[in-house]
Amino acid sequence: MQAQILGMLTPMMALLFAATFAVFWKLGGMRRHVLGFAIGYFLFAIGFLAAHFLPADAFYLFHTTQFFYSLGTIVSIASACERVGQRVHIPTMVGIYAISAFVLALAVSITPEVGPRLIIVNTAYGAMNIMGLAILLMARRRELADYAIIAVVALQAVDYLVRPNLTLMFEQSIHETAYRDSIYYSLIGLVLGVKSVGSAMVLIGATIAELTKTLRETSEQDPLTGLRNRAAFEQSMQTLLPKAHTEAVPISLVIADIDHFKQVNDIWGHQAGDRAIASFGGLISEMVRGCDTAARVGGEEFCIAVWNCPNEPAERLAERIRQAFAQLSHEGLSADIRLTASFGVATASFGETYEQIFARADGALYKAKGGGRNRVQNAERTSCNIPKPVDQEPDQRGLRSA
Ligand code: GH3
Ligand code: MG
Ligand code: MG
Repeated sequence: MQAQILGMLTPMMALLFAATFAVFWKLGGMRRHVLGFAIGYFLFAIGFLAAHFLPADAFYLFHTTQFFYSLGTIVSIASACERVGQRVHIPTMVGIYAISAFVLALAVSITPEVGPRLIIVNTAYGAMNIMGLAILLMARRRELADYAIIAVVALQAVDYLVRPNLTLMFEQSIHETAYRDSIYYSLIGLVLGVKSVGSAMVLIGATIAELTKTLRETSEQDPLTGLRNRAAFEQSMQTLLPKAHTEAVPISLVIADIDHFKQVNDIWGHQAGDRAIASFGGLISEMVRGCDTAARVGGEEFCIAVWNCPNEPAERLAERIRQAFAQLSHEGLSADIRLTASFGVATASFGETYEQIFARADGALYKAKGGGRNRVQNAERTSCNIPKPVDQEPDQRGLRSA
């Protein structure tokens, strides 16, 4: 009775871990691999239950446990690989299972000894883990959690390949009817329990780290444009400005604001306005480099921190964006309407704070608005850059036709 109750411990823990991953997946809106971890633990739990409660002399005992352990291993390894953007070749994994199931059937029909059966099934689990390990090592992503998962898979592979052989060196003969009274069986109860808890802790840790990262990224992102939001931009600037000064790298700030945007909302509605804001955000993100930081800092107001960029190239970037935006047509607005934006540009001087450079770029933007809009004003110059002649003057609403 005591042994029966103890035997429930590992499957119950596995079920608990399965439930934990299922909750993370569902409530955290996490990716498919987290559901894969839940399914993997669920399959292991069924395997553990089968190993402990099926009749000891049943010919199908090893086949049943092997089926569920193999499936659990395949699903868990495929999920761990998918987590880092790698794919497992499932037919190869299934092939390993099929070959070992065939050899196991031969062993069961030839001898009532359990030793050969244990070596056959464990070699197959070991092979699956080695395959998973090789794929995980190919992944480019290497954070702390990734190293921990690689270590777990490597330990699993060693355990499956070494433990059965070592144990059977001491306990040379185990008849199938005496299997549950063997040293091997007591040892495996302990090993499976420890492995199950250990790997679950690592995977739960990795899942929490992933969830935290996603939440942080979401909280830093503007949902309409996918760019950073104001708070995240200000935070980036607090890091970028001192870094630029330390590394003696020029950094410029561009502020852009869509012209007469209230009119857009008033005439074509808020949704059409939102789409125009999203288009401007998309255009900005296409036109800046990977090292630049772009953000939507207000309703229809955007900022770009142009890294390693002196004043004139930053002004030219603003000018290119201005021209590109003035040519865009917008879904939901009259087909001939073109929107424009005004820009302010400033380049950080030594020791300048974010508040100071922002105030200067914003002052330039204000001047661009006052100077007639649809233009770039450089805070480092006194004269306003006159935009290239436009085909059409703005109408009374301040809007331009194509
Ligand atoms: P100006 O040329 O002087 O910039 O004129 P403007 O009409 O664009 O004036 P301002 O920049 O002060 O007004 C911005 C307007 O943008 C106010 C508000 O109706 C609109 N707005 C702010 N946030 C959003 C948003 O998220 N979606 C939409 N559709 N409109 C917004
Ligand atoms: Mg505006
Ligand atoms: Mg504005």
